[in-house]
Amino acid sequence: MPRPSSGGNRTPRPRGAEPEQLGFEGMPERLFVCTPSKLGAYTDCPRRYRYSYVDRPAPPKGPPWAHNSLGASVHTALRNWYALPADRRSSDALPTLLKGTWVREGYRDEEQERAVFRRALDWLESYVETLDPDQDPLGVERVVAVKTAVLAFNGRTDRIDSRPGPDGPQLVIVDYKTGRTGLDADDARGSQALALYAYAAERVFRQPCRRVELHHLPTGTVAAHDHTPESLARQLGRAEDTARDIMAAERAITDGTDPDEAFPVAPGVRCGWCDYRRTCPAGADAPAKEPWTAVERALLPADPQ
Ligand code: SF4
Repeated sequence: MPRPSSGGNRTPRPRGAEPEQLGFEGMPERLFVCTPSKLGAYTDCPRRYRYSYVDRPAPPKGPPWAHNSLGASVHTALRNWYALPADRRSSDALPTLLKGTWVREGYRDEEQERAVFRRALDWLESYVETLDPDQDPLGVERVVAVKTAVLAFNGRTDRIDSRPGPDGPQLVIVDYKTGRTGLDADDARGSQALALYAYAAERVFRQPCRRVELHHLPTGTVAAHDHTPESLARQLGRAEDTARDIMAAERAITDGTDPDEAFPVAPGVRCGWCDYRRTCPAGADAPAKEPWTAVERALLPADPQ
């Protein structure tokens, strides 16, 4: 199959070309509308951001990844578990829930898919044993949104708990993880997505939300961090810096800069997992991963490190 060029033959349509970006004196600047994955795409690789959010038509993506199918299936099964009446929230409900939400794409063959299904069911059965079925979270797959001077942020949390604290109820952001490797407190502390969810949830619900938790289903471990107003503000400031960089790159294209220069490649190990590896000139050097490579690892014993 011929390799498409680096993108010079597509005409990017940056947001900066839209009329409300003219910036008349005294008029408010347009806010940068974003989700955690949009910000993360640019931070990981500006070129990947451009392929995903700027170029229209977007370049073709590679085939679906089995690990994304697995993650989506487990997340939806947990959402539906909470949607059951409390007296039916037990591990007995899980096989039906997981079958109903199972996404089949990306697996090598049916044998692998069946093995991963059984493993996912094991994870879920162990995990729900740790949950109180009578305790309804404040939100399940709840969208939280907040505006700042730069951002209009919105994102879908996996779960928001309300737990008793010394000064009254406190909100906790819970994020489910299904990768093979365990996570630690540094992962929870460093996650910009979790910090932005906490910042937004605090404002949406008008209750303190400082604690963020990564619940790693394969190992049954929880990696947690308690933010302060200052640490949340730092993460927000970094997100706003990223948004400014993206808007500047989009304006540069409008002003005639080569799109490949405005959104440079950032090659690295992640290229092997990039949806645009076949489009990107830097992706050619990355060793190709099969769509099921990561779930093969999921079938190995979980690595707590
Ligand atoms: S292949 Fe690598 S350099 Fe190219 S867009 Fe993807 S992550 Fe960026």
